[in-house]
Amino acid sequence: EAAKPILSVNNIEVIYDHVILVLKGVSLAVPKGGIVAILGANGAGKTTTLKAISNLLRAERGEVTKGSIEFDGERVDRKTPNELVRRGCIQVMEGRHCFGHLTIHENLLTGAFTRRDGKAAIKRDMEMVYDYFPRLRQRQGSMSGYTSGGEQQMCAIGRALMSRPKMILLDEPSMGLAPQIVEEIFEIVKDLNAKEGVSFLVAEQNTNMALKYATYAYILETGRVVMDGTAQMMRDNEDVKEFYLGVA
Ligand code: ATP
Repeated sequence: EAAKPILSVNNIEVIYDHVILVLKGVSLAVPKGGIVAILGANGAGKTTTLKAISNLLRAERGEVTKGSIEFDGERVDRKTPNELVRRGCIQVMEGRHCFGHLTIHENLLTGAFTRRDGKAAIKRDMEMVYDYFPRLRQRQGSMSGYTSGGEQQMCAIGRALMSRPKMILLDEPSMGLAPQIVEEIFEIVKDLNAKEGVSFLVAEQNTNMALKYATYAYILETGRVVMDGTAQMMRDNEDVKEFYLGVA
């Protein structure tokens, strides 16, 4: 079906420190309600692509020097990260970035900082997050720094949910986690997508896992999209099998 894109990235170029050209004209689209994967090796430009969308490059001395980005029907490439969050687009950074000295519950509350709709609504969403992540409910009083890697990843996604996003940019959710936990997290992503209608753009080096849950994927190599297609097509493609799935 030809769902209208909620996100479209049109031929963007990203340069770090005024000279280092890292994205060399990347285009991609995420349909409303879709789960789309960005695949590729370490250093291919996945994180840079997500940060370009959520406008988090400035802190890294990076900037989008060409192209445009549209989210939910408007140009967003000049919006601040907070403005993007308010419009419904939020990034969960690689490495989780929970506040280690705050409890899980407090971490989740920090995710509601852009909202103006009062305590009752926030409390309701907190319950929603705990319903999706029973492990977080169990651990709500624990300092996140003392919880497991999987719980911290869940906390980071839960915190993003507290901003009531239309779309989550998820950077390498599998990093450092056991396959079983990765699967558990992707199952919840699938659920959130199906039941809450949240769209996802997921950067992953774990091609196998990403292609199991995404409907569409892009492969990045040194700052360029070298292939894109449905997850099914990718799984069946001989080159993808050889270079990214480790089966020849
Ligand atoms: P990873 O899985 O390690 O996150 P990635 O595919 O997300 O890999 P990026 O982190 O986007 O790749 O990096 C793409 C390229 O940009 C790499 O060559 C990297 O060295 C370079 N790069 C990333 N951040 C900066 C920076 N702040 N300044 C200069 N170069 C950078």
